[in-house]
Amino acid sequence: MWAELEDLRRQLDSAAGELAAVRVARGDSSADDEHDPDGSTLSSDWSRISGLAAALGERRAGVERALERIDSGTYGACARCGRPIGRARLGARPAADLCIECAREMSR
Ligand SMILES: [Zn+2]
Repeated sequence: MWAELEDLRRQLDSAAGELAAVRVARGDSSADDEHDPDGSTLSSDWSRISGLAAALGERRAGVERALERIDSGTYGACARCGRPIGRARLGARPAADLCIECAREMSR
């Protein structure tokens, strides 16, 4: 069993747990995103919590994509150029789907 897989599952669990806690904190566990948050009297708290929820959601989505790539046998290959992603990079960021060169280019 790959160490990365264990890391990914741990990250997924912790992101899912934190995300659920954040959703309860901001009071929309019903997954109803229709209402406009602008009227909130706690707008700074709201934007902080919303930002946290968005970041956790992205992290969870990234981990889920990585687990799918493990299932399909493409984990460890860059999603853009197809070259192998370095072991050091995967060790630091198990959910990474781009090699360091592509990640650098995409963030430009
Ligand atoms: Zn690449």
